[in-house]
Amino acid sequence: MGSVPYFQTPDLEEIQKRLAPCDDFRHGFMGTDQRRLGEILQADNATVKNLGLTHKAIADALTRLTEEGKKGQGLPVTVDNKFLITVDMARGKLPCPFGDKGFFRKTSVTLKKISTNEQLAWSDLALHLIEAHGFYQGKGSPFRLDPAALAKILELTPE
Ligand SMILES: [Zn+2]
Repeated sequence: MGSVPYFQTPDLEEIQKRLAPCDDFRHGFMGTDQRRLGEILQADNATVKNLGLTHKAIADALTRLTEEGKKGQGLPVTVDNKFLITVDMARGKLPCPFGDKGFFRKTSVTLKKISTNEQLAWSDLALHLIEAHGFYQGKGSPFRLDPAALAKILELTPE
């Protein structure tokens, strides 16, 4: 992969301001990432393509695991004989920082892969950010869902 030029539109510039830490998002979404949002989106999009996956396929996998995890009603659930998933249905809702209408529950999901102890954590909003915007959050964000790490831990393979 050479360096591909990216384009930061004025819209993305506006959105990037909303990804900084604020009252609703105490950690923000950018972490310590110094790149422009357009560059982050492009790099993660390229990673997902190289894996033979789509943002939707990744979001669908996370959605299914979330739904399975909810059956535990706050207690850990073993899913696929591989993952221990705990879903905490926290109160409150958050808006999408990309400006979509509607709100997303502050549900927090934690997943532990039993064979390796690798862990992932996500929220309803994080899932939406992947599905609708191809945004996995900035590097250094405690909630970044690196697509390559996601694919490896969840054992996602091209369709
Ligand atoms: Zn959105």
